[in-house]
Amino acid sequence: MNLVNQRIMKCMMNKRQTGFWKEKPLQKMTRKEWELLCDGCGRCCLEKLKDAKNGKVYYTNLACRYLDLKTCRCTIYAHRTRIAPDCEWLNPFKIARFRWLPKTCAYRLVMETKDLAWWHPLISGDPETVHLAGISVKNIAVSSLGVPEDEYEDYILDNNLWAKSARI
Ligand code: SF4
Ligand code: SF4
Repeated sequence: MNLVNQRIMKCMMNKRQTGFWKEKPLQKMTRKEWELLCDGCGRCCLEKLKDAKNGKVYYTNLACRYLDLKTCRCTIYAHRTRIAPDCEWLNPFKIARFRWLPKTCAYRLVMETKDLAWWHPLISGDPETVHLAGISVKNIAVSSLGVPEDEYEDYILDNNLWAKSARI
């Protein structure tokens, strides 16, 4: 049995999730808990386009210039609000407004009182499972550096990309 199948089996056997994310709301989490909740998918760091008429958000595969495309982690995380003022700063008091977050985002799942998936590092105990499951932007994202904004439309992703390819 390969690693991914082992993780799925483990999660299926442990149906009832326990952990701080089940015991307290986002607003009551400590900073450490809040940070642990991020699955490291990097999808919120993709450039997005919003349809001015209906408000629909389209993800592109262009990543913020500060995203490490191999690890899917921010390279300036501690200083992002100063270096990248356009970066959306997620915090417990604003999260309800971030409807554009992917449906798999742990903050969104907790806000909607849903369970985390088997591949979330808090469930699997392994930060690599988010990549193994095909949830992250690994091998999908390219840097937005040097791409003019009026060309972003050419990089719009298929809305069902993750639904089709991910093992969720
Ligand atoms: S989409 Fe959510 S879980 Fe994924 S990296 Fe962004 S904040 Fe973390
Ligand atoms: S600055 Fe960091 S956290 Fe913000 S969008 Fe860019 S890579 Fe993501």
